[in-house]
Amino acid sequence: MTTRQDCDVLDQEDPLRELKQQFDLPAGTIYLDGNSLGVLPRETLGRVQQVIQKEWGQDLIKSWNTAGWIDLPGRIGDKIARLVGAAPGELIVADSTSLNLYKALSAALRISLEQAPERKVIVSERSNFPTDLYIAESLAQQLGLRLHLVDNVADIAATLNTDLAVLMLTEVNYRTGYKHDMKALTAAAHAAGALVIWDLAHSAGAVPVDLNGAKADFAVGCGYKYLNGGPGAPAFVWVHAKHAQRCWQPLSGWLGHAAPFQFTPDYQAAAGIKRFICGTPALLSLAALECGVDTVLAAESLGGMQALRKKSIALTELFIELAESRCAALGIRLASPRDENQRGSQVCLSLDAPLHEAGYAVMQALIARGVIGDFRAGDPARLDEVPHILRFGFTPLYIGFADVYDAVEHLVQVLKNEEWKRPEFNTQGAVT
Ligand SMILES: *Cc1c(COP(=O)(O)O)cnc(C)c1O
Repeated sequence: MTTRQDCDVLDQEDPLRELKQQFDLPAGTIYLDGNSLGVLPRETLGRVQQVIQKEWGQDLIKSWNTAGWIDLPGRIGDKIARLVGAAPGELIVADSTSLNLYKALSAALRISLEQAPERKVIVSERSNFPTDLYIAESLAQQLGLRLHLVDNVADIAATLNTDLAVLMLTEVNYRTGYKHDMKALTAAAHAAGALVIWDLAHSAGAVPVDLNGAKADFAVGCGYKYLNGGPGAPAFVWVHAKHAQRCWQPLSGWLGHAAPFQFTPDYQAAAGIKRFICGTPALLSLAALECGVDTVLAAESLGGMQALRKKSIALTELFIELAESRCAALGIRLASPRDENQRGSQVCLSLDAPLHEAGYAVMQALIARGVIGDFRAGDPARLDEVPHILRFGFTPLYIGFADVYDAVEHLVQVLKNEEWKRPEFNTQGAVT
């Protein structure tokens, strides 16, 4: 079994160890929730302060031109493009993931309905992040279409038929960390005559993504998770070049117009991806997002996303090894795929009976010890298939091997000493 000393050696030999210096992490905290809210980069405070004091405070409205505010959604978009296999000018930062999904799914459905009006089904997974399903359900209702949800990945293949308009998947599952084969599923859906939308919320900055290599049609993603953009950071949207110049999206706001400052009463879509911008972007949040994206790009000179992925796999493999060898007898079970190729940058654990209702309290007890992950409730009707889980994200930019060892040590203590039984760990907050 890997020892604490082994972990210290792994950290010393880690070619990415210097990247941690980019962050201001609170002392005594092992932060395993970067999949939910990324950490604060050192650069962010100064940059946002500069935008507020100088660009806004002193230069006022001139900054739209002089500080390049108007170009920021595209400039940051080009940076994110480098992380997800997109070309410059193909990806734009705007709005939230939910809104971008609404735009992208509307665009994909319009293309599909024009080409093949008899295709009336959107397919996704029941285990997809709920907002994606809610948005798809709303669009299906508006357009008289049907949202079909599969329970298992293996059931997707049977839905790739002449009824299918759009296959809408999240590459890495938010609960289990299951990672789809983007290239194979995209090719299979295309062979069936359908379009594919990928949600990269748990992929961008976490795993190498090759949107153009996979020939995907649309993608959306999140700025505040692995991209470290800060709470509520703007999200992004990408459209394949073959659709970009002609596709329509429903939120035709003025900054997605070809010439917004002509103030014409009729709408003319801007060229390419810019038409996916709706209204005025949240500048302060964009400034913070750029600092976050830069922390991931800082790995480019050290091997980029491939090197981050290699370390992420090593961290998650170590966590699984230690959690299983030290906590299985205490009622802990792996709830993420064992195969590293089917796993994103997170690992989930579930709890056996009689502990399985204690997940929330176990996580609270861990957080009190400085190990921050999160808890996701299971499906009360199907706890065998969708159990309560403890979710741990491993961000190779700032998590080391000794952190993984120490996190498991804390988990052992919480379970052995039954610390989770304390009343203060058994009251639930509004956000879990
Ligand atoms: C985190 C996440 C979102 C977040 O959507 P918001 O609009 O930013 O709240 C959407 N989809 C998936 C798959 C996510 O994991």
